[in-house]
Amino acid sequence: MSLIECKNINRCFGSGANRVHVLKDINLKIDKGDFVAIIGQSGSGKSTLMNILGCLDTPSSGSYMVDGVETAKMEANELAGLRRKRFGFIFQRYNLLNALSARDNVALPAVYAGLPHKERYNRANALLHRLGLEGKEENKPSELSGGQQQRVSIARALMNGGEILLADEPTGALDSKSGENVMDTIRQLHNEGHTIIMVTHDPKIAALANRVIEIKDGYIISDVSKNSEVAPGSVETLPENRSWLFRKDQLLESFRMSVQAIMSHKMRSLLTMLGIIIGIASVVSVVALGKGTQTKILGDIAAIGTNTISIYPGKGFGDRFSGKIKTLTVADAEVIGRQSYVSNVTPMTASSGTITYRNADLTGQLYGVGNQYFDVRGFKLDEGRLFDEQDVKDNAQVVVIDQNTLKKLFPDNENPLGKVILFKKRPLTIIGTVKEEKNAFGGDSDSLQLWSPYTTVMNQITGERHISSLIVKVGDNASSQAAENGLTELLISRHGTEDFFMRNSDSIKQTVESATGTMTLLISSIALISLVVGGIGVMNIMLVSVTERTKEIGVRMAIGARQGNILQQFLIEAVLICLIGGMTGIALSILIGMTFNHFVTDFAMTFSAMSVVGAVACSTIIGVVFGYIPANRASKLNPIDALAHD
Ligand code: ADP
Ligand code: MG
Repeated sequence: MSLIECKNINRCFGSGANRVHVLKDINLKIDKGDFVAIIGQSGSGKSTLMNILGCLDTPSSGSYMVDGVETAKMEANELAGLRRKRFGFIFQRYNLLNALSARDNVALPAVYAGLPHKERYNRANALLHRLGLEGKEENKPSELSGGQQQRVSIARALMNGGEILLADEPTGALDSKSGENVMDTIRQLHNEGHTIIMVTHDPKIAALANRVIEIKDGYIISDVSKNSEVAPGSVETLPENRSWLFRKDQLLESFRMSVQAIMSHKMRSLLTMLGIIIGIASVVSVVALGKGTQTKILGDIAAIGTNTISIYPGKGFGDRFSGKIKTLTVADAEVIGRQSYVSNVTPMTASSGTITYRNADLTGQLYGVGNQYFDVRGFKLDEGRLFDEQDVKDNAQVVVIDQNTLKKLFPDNENPLGKVILFKKRPLTIIGTVKEEKNAFGGDSDSLQLWSPYTTVMNQITGERHISSLIVKVGDNASSQAAENGLTELLISRHGTEDFFMRNSDSIKQTVESATGTMTLLISSIALISLVVGGIGVMNIMLVSVTERTKEIGVRMAIGARQGNILQQFLIEAVLICLIGGMTGIALSILIGMTFNHFVTDFAMTFSAMSVVGAVACSTIIGVVFGYIPANRASKLNPIDALAHD
């Protein structure tokens, strides 16, 4: 059985009017250990035949068998396996990878074969030394002469064994001295047992071969052997390694190559990452901002006291008819105050009207409250005193004012205590001022707020018998849920219907949590759009990169890279770009957060581990999703088309 056998091979390119029939009914058998030269004029089809023999290309019709196995039935990866294990290519233009050193170029086929790093390194060194390239291991191809580059490519062809060496015009681009040198090496390799198939148009070089096949216009027109019997050579082929360690090693190698690719296009990589950086930075910042706001508001609620229940007339906030409901009264407050689960209760009524002092006329809000109100709401006394139980009992005409009112009425820093102001033409004596309310419920910061005993407001100013709300502080021994149920039952029995609603501070907390959560989600999803845009940017650049590196992909395939290897390499590159972008984005948002927290003291941006982990996961997913299309396209390239690409 011949090592290689072609039966009626035809190869056509193009279709329709552009169809060219290059190889015509080629029948050929080549034995193990032979040295064959294929000669013919330029354009006669030599390279086309060579590419089919090397499994880089497939015939349009006919059968090509290696070791008696039909190649037409093989999958892309099986063909890659043949190229990797059996063949070694020596190209006219060397086809070395410019980014890699001579040693890494030589070692590359063994990466795909799974040779451990150390052994790969040693074997590549040994091959380079053998070919007279000692001291050039670290040189990039651009730092080597043509002859040296060709010798590097021969070393690469031998890396995995190179049982069958395919050389397409190996001396075509070399001066005669280097050419002779290369031919000496090839002859020597033949003597060592390598089967050699060489294309040349130089009869002198062809004369070195044992068998010369001449092609003309796609036909074999002559086939002459010096010795019909050749000694079957034996060449040691490196065993393939398919263990887990091998996969890890290959992953590392892909990683290294990706880093190299990114580093060799720094500016482009940076611009690609920009979209991801902005996207991740905004998502992480928004989440941190939302978290900070939430923490702040919940802190404020905690300051008010967690166990309070507010009761309002109507069905809920915004109920249009709540103003007409007059059933909530001071009497209700008194009954509620006697319940065992209530520690105290503050009725509240509000009236808006004109405040007059000397010649100032201002509009403000006067709240009628109980003496415990300040405590329940967490107001702090600034100057003077707050009213007490006795004031409430006595309908005392006293008032406590806030900082806004103070500034408006006493712009000259006059002492306000003891001064009498008019609210709706009723005199009220200022007994105290409260500090500015430093919480999220402060409301309109310009509004003027005043507080008097509810008895004073109801009896002397509004004349109303109903109140606008009740704040109940639940006793420590009772749960707010039980208290709420008790209060509901009690008030229904007093009013006849449920014409009121309650908010306990727990439910406010939940509302705040869900509201800020919704906001964060909303803004995050907008930021997410920029992430998607960033991902599309990555995809674009990767597609460009694949096109730009088509030749490189072809070379990798020629030396035996599987489709999976190519896919993995480009995917890792995309993921790496996204990951670096993501990390930079996180760093950027932390920087933003630190700046923000430095200048804004009111509340802090709070970064959670979750959002950072989420951002990293997000950028990885973007890398995989948007990197897949270009990576897949690269891996599905036809080796010979890729190789022919400039
Ligand atoms: P050579 O003997 O010089 O190596 P080739 O085998 O490279 O010749 O090419 C033989 C003929 O096939 C040429 O006419 C060339 O134009 C044509 N050819 C080779 N590859 C292709 C291709 N991919 N598409 C179309 N025509 C091709
Ligand atoms: Mg050619």
